[in-house]
Amino acid sequence: MDEPLFTNIPRDLITAPFFRRDGEFGEREAWIWLIAAAAVRCGTGPFGRPVQRSEIDLDRRKLAEQWGWTSRHLDSFLSRLAGVGFMERDADVIRIVDFDAMTVPESDEPADTSIELSSPSELRAMGVRMRSRESSHIPAAVRREVVLRDGWICQYCYATDGPFHFDHVFPRSRGGTDTAANIKIACETCNLRKGARTPEEWRAATP
Ligand SMILES: [Zn+2]
Repeated sequence: MDEPLFTNIPRDLITAPFFRRDGEFGEREAWIWLIAAAAVRCGTGPFGRPVQRSEIDLDRRKLAEQWGWTSRHLDSFLSRLAGVGFMERDADVIRIVDFDAMTVPESDEPADTSIELSSPSELRAMGVRMRSRESSHIPAAVRREVVLRDGWICQYCYATDGPFHFDHVFPRSRGGTDTAANIKIACETCNLRKGARTPEEWRAATP
């Protein structure tokens, strides 16, 4: 095999809050494991089936065993990865979407590149609902940056269940910009409660 055994992974793909950090072999490690396993161009996957580059053959029981995970955690992790558009899967194979964009050729500097993952339909698949009057304003690159920075965690109440909105910290209706610095992930409840107020105004009005 003449394929490189190492692959560079952009830092923000590993440190994104999306990946829960629990246990010795956590989700970050699992993600690195998957990317490394998919780096073999053509050959046999970790569980003996033939695969192409970007693919990993899937044996849920053996994979859970190998990672020391419950099959429930494995299933939920794989569905979440599929939900954010990082991978597709069928019964026997996991396919990492845009694999070459997920990894950085060794010659390229710097290693910290970003990836294209959040078209509006992908964001919908991730459970992000944008208010329609806002949806066209926030550039895809900004949405992506916000999602990778905040994860699926409401930045006001720390809820982890959606639906989520992109909240303009300084309200858009009052001149707030569509920049990552002015946008946070907020659960629908917080976003609607906050309305066209700043967090300070919202706090001041909440007994
Ligand atoms: Zn909230």
